[in-house]
Amino acid sequence: MTEFELIDRFFRQSAAPGAGVVLGVGDDCALLAPAPGMQLAVSSDMLVEGRHFLPTVAPEHLGHKALAVNLSDLAACGARPLGFTLSLGLPRPDARWLEPFARGLLALAGEHGCALVGGDTTAAPVITLSLTVLGEVPSGGALLRGGACAGDELWVSGHLGDARLALEAFRGTLSLPQAVFEAVRQRMERPTPRVALGQALRGVASSAIDVSDGLAGDLGHVLRQSRVGACIQAELACDLIAAQTVPAWPAGQFTRKQRLDWVLGGGDDYELAFTAPPERHGAVLAAGRASATTVRCIGRIEPQPGLRVAWPDEPATPWVAAGFDHFA
Ligand code: ADP
Ligand code: MG
Repeated sequence: MTEFELIDRFFRQSAAPGAGVVLGVGDDCALLAPAPGMQLAVSSDMLVEGRHFLPTVAPEHLGHKALAVNLSDLAACGARPLGFTLSLGLPRPDARWLEPFARGLLALAGEHGCALVGGDTTAAPVITLSLTVLGEVPSGGALLRGGACAGDELWVSGHLGDARLALEAFRGTLSLPQAVFEAVRQRMERPTPRVALGQALRGVASSAIDVSDGLAGDLGHVLRQSRVGACIQAELACDLIAAQTVPAWPAGQFTRKQRLDWVLGGGDDYELAFTAPPERHGAVLAAGRASATTVRCIGRIEPQPGLRVAWPDEPATPWVAAGFDHFA
């Protein structure tokens, strides 16, 4: 299979590219036409075999995840997806890998009306993926990291820590009942980008970020850029782990401190963390309902810099944030 046969067979979509895309795969450039009054939102993410995913991961799940992590960035800005490019490095052009990879990728793209509009294809020592997503957001309306204010409530979507549990189980540092393992493994391999929630939070949230490197680390970016601090209600946060994904799971098997560590330090969650003034509490809940996404208030923004956690029976103590750093 040549490079061009590969592109034609797996990545040239026959369907019309979709709203906002004038020209997709096949020419020197794709052409996008954001609606009048909109700004383009652009974000890239790389995934490298052995670094971001295990070589054993099913190619269909990898296709899903590669786009999901990029859509999660658009979600965090409140942008509507338009299209994306895919740059693909492969050791060999293997149809048995490419077919399910493209299926997982394009299924999620279809769900979000986000067309594959171009890319590049090259030989590489290990599977290397680089995606760039393009979205649109009303001018001046994007959700940014720098807008949190003291007094705002701190919210998170969905569940946190599930992917970390799955990773620990893969590493063999803990063992989980089969049903729990399957549930958290789904969450690690097939994350759900909160695209509808992000758009529903425009004009409601004061700041937002997607949680990819662990809540504590990612929230730290918001706190520094907003020049504020936060206090998390530990009892609420430690409940965010898989207990709710799998109601029958005996979460008590792990201490609350251990669960809090996974929730705050986890990684690979692809949930949204955001802030909003208390008077918008109802509007946040409405945004959650409108997007069929669970949202929970787990703390507050405070003037004093840094992140603190408070148990009901203990005074607030500083949290030492340790988000994942590729060069640490
Ligand atoms: P160029 O030589 O101008 O970089 P290429 O020959 O690399 O163009 O690609 C031909 C067309 O196929 C372009 O429209 C490019 O965007 C698209 N393309 C290449 N690789 C991919 C890919 N992995 N996924 C989607 N489109 C791709
Ligand atoms: Mg090229």
